[in-house]
Order: sequence, then structure tokens, then C-alpha cells
Amino acid sequence: MAEETSVPERIVSRQVLAIPQRFSTGPVMGRFLRELRDHKRIMANKCPKCGRHQLPPREVCAVCHVEATGWEELPPEGAIRDFDVVYYASPDPLTGETRQVPYVLCWVDLDGTQGDAPLWHLLNVENLAEVRRGVRVRVVFADERHGTTEDIRHFEIIREEASPGAGTGAES
Ligand SMILES: [Zn+2]
Repeated sequence: MAEETSVPERIVSRQVLAIPQRFSTGPVMGRFLRELRDHKRIMANKCPKCGRHQLPPREVCAVCHVEATGWEELPPEGAIRDFDVVYYASPDPLTGETRQVPYVLCWVDLDGTQGDAPLWHLLNVENLAEVRRGVRVRVVFADERHGTTEDIRHFEIIREEASPGAGTGAES
């Protein structure tokens, strides 16, 4: 007589846990977010010892371990340092929603940034072949801003204005 194998029933409990919480941004990140919301300004803080920017700002220089007390506004334009093209969107752990794929995340060195402080955000681009290191991009701010990093909607590629007599498109 064949031995019966039984697979135990698996019981799955599906629940969405909602725990209302509020976090203080602290004075440093708070200023960064307030400047985005109220003035569309990108503010980095600066280490008094080594002079490097931190973006987003943090209270202490990650290299020198001293309080980063200075502030500087950085322009909303720069060059792509690196990027990821994402083809599989994992669900947002807070909302369960997934983003349409493919999408592009990029690390941008804003003009004038000192040290290793690229700003990381989405890049809105239709043609993935246009995405390369060194490509010039600008920040597009959200129309309605609430003091979050989503106040930056995304980066977009800066299109050079066509100037009269500038090339025929025949150059190789
Ligand atoms: Zn430093």
C-alpha cells in the first residue's frame, strides 16, 4: 500500500497595516525641504573643514565628522553622473503601487557642486538612447509642493536652442 503524502494547508492572512506616524525632519533636512516648497531653491550645506557640499544636507560632514554649518544654493541644472534604467518596478512598500516601466533614475552633479554630492531623482525621458553620462539636465519642480523630495517632479534633458547656421545635421 502506497504511503500517502499530505501537504498541510497553508493559511495566508492578508492585511494592510496602517500605523499613523509623524517624523520630525530635523532642522537641516527641514530647511532643505522648506526651501524646495517655498522658493524652488536647492540648498546644500557645506563642511567648514573640507568645503564639500552635502545634498541632501546632513548635519555632520560624512568625511570630516564636523558639523556642516554653511549653506549654499545650487543651480537647478547639471550633468548626469550616472543612471539606472529600471525595467522591473518593485511595489512601493508604503502604497503598494508600482511605477510604469521602464523608468530612469539618475545621479546629477549640479553645477558648482564641491565634492561628492550628486542629487538623485527620476529622469523624465522618452528615448532611452538619449540617456548618457555627461548629458545636461535641469530640475522640474512640482506645481504643488508640500515639503517633500517629491517637490522635485523629475529631471529633464536640456535641449540646445537651434541657432541659425549651426550645422546641417550632415556631420558624422
Ligand atoms: Zn568635511
